[in-house]
Amino acid sequence: MTMDVLSRMEEYDHEQVVFCQDKAAGLKAIIAIHDTTLGPALGGTRMWNYASEEEALRDVLRLSRGMTHKACAAGLNLGGGKAVIIGDPKKDKTEVLFRAYGRFVNSLGGRYITAEDVGTDVNDMEYAFTETDYVVGIESSHGGSGNPAPFTALGVFQAIKASLAKVYGKEDLNGRIVAVQGVGQVGSHLIRRLKTAGAKIFATDIDLEKLKAMQVEMGFEIVSAKEIYSVPCDIFVPCALGGVLNDETIPLLKCKIIAGSSNNQLEKSEHGEALKERGILYAPDYVVNAGGLINVYQELEGYSRERAERMTRGIYYNLKRVFQISDELGISTEKAAAKMVDQRLNQLRQISSSFQQTRKTALTHVHDRFRSHS
Ligand code: NAD
Repeated sequence: MTMDVLSRMEEYDHEQVVFCQDKAAGLKAIIAIHDTTLGPALGGTRMWNYASEEEALRDVLRLSRGMTHKACAAGLNLGGGKAVIIGDPKKDKTEVLFRAYGRFVNSLGGRYITAEDVGTDVNDMEYAFTETDYVVGIESSHGGSGNPAPFTALGVFQAIKASLAKVYGKEDLNGRIVAVQGVGQVGSHLIRRLKTAGAKIFATDIDLEKLKAMQVEMGFEIVSAKEIYSVPCDIFVPCALGGVLNDETIPLLKCKIIAGSSNNQLEKSEHGEALKERGILYAPDYVVNAGGLINVYQELEGYSRERAERMTRGIYYNLKRVFQISDELGISTEKAAAKMVDQRLNQLRQISSSFQQTRKTALTHVHDRFRSHS
């Protein structure tokens, strides 16, 4: 079966797809650059045991397009890209594999900047960083911005406040009931903030040991992974996996708002309509969870934690704009977010020549960062 790569690229208007192979290093990877109108394409490298090359291609095309939307909605001067390495992250990781991968990233001359993602970690990216400057999110001791999760959690917290203001007319969390799915890196940081603000928390995780340890530290009520959907609450916060808003779960929900960090929360885009019909305000995931991306972006501008926090707080206003478009046009918030993204991309396409300049400026900072730490 042919993969029809070019017609697939045409479907969502991808600029470039690079297939990378190095037999000696055991590397098989695909890098997808979706759109560089706003700046260099930035997105993580996922390592996964894909059943087929077809599946890997589908994933990288979908994920890279999602990165264009996320960066654009956050107001960043970044394009969308993503890469996948085909292999088992538990068995197939080696220094030489990630260094070979780093060389392919380098060959793109900064059109694609990578970071860690599902199946890869900071150590893997340090190997890639040996071969290319175009890596962000590495350890702060190497000039990187460190763990993005606290910033993602701050962004979700701002999104929750914007959603409360929309639904209840005030953003105060005191006494609000919040159901958190997943107490991992983002979920745990977020729960700390929510508790401090006076919310009552119900939480779940499939890792029961972690869940119990967190409960001792933070004092929330534990519910099962199944029950989390039907907890009567003000806000449901998905911080675990994608596809959790679907035909099965939507009828169970007893919340007024959904705002969480998980990527691709809606199984299909029509589930955005289903939530609207049920009177549930859905804060689109890629607008809500951009805090981590905003943080690594600062590495390109010359890292400033203060600026990263200020821009992450701006998620409050990005979301307000989405709600406004949704009200004005009577469309779902999911569709409204897509409209907001299209508007910015189309406006900036008209002056795209200036962005050659921005792109160069951004890349100069990548080199400066590298030099100052070498
Ligand atoms: P994580 O792996 O640290 O935490 C995820 C948690 O979810 C784990 O504790 C896991 O046991 C739990 N989990 C998995 N399946 C579950 C289920 N069915 N029910 C309940 N719990 C379940 O990941 P994270 O970094 O906290 O990220 C959480 C989500 O946010 C992910 O979807 C991630 O892609 C997304 N996200 C994270 C960041 C970031 O900065 N870390 C940025 C953007 C988006």
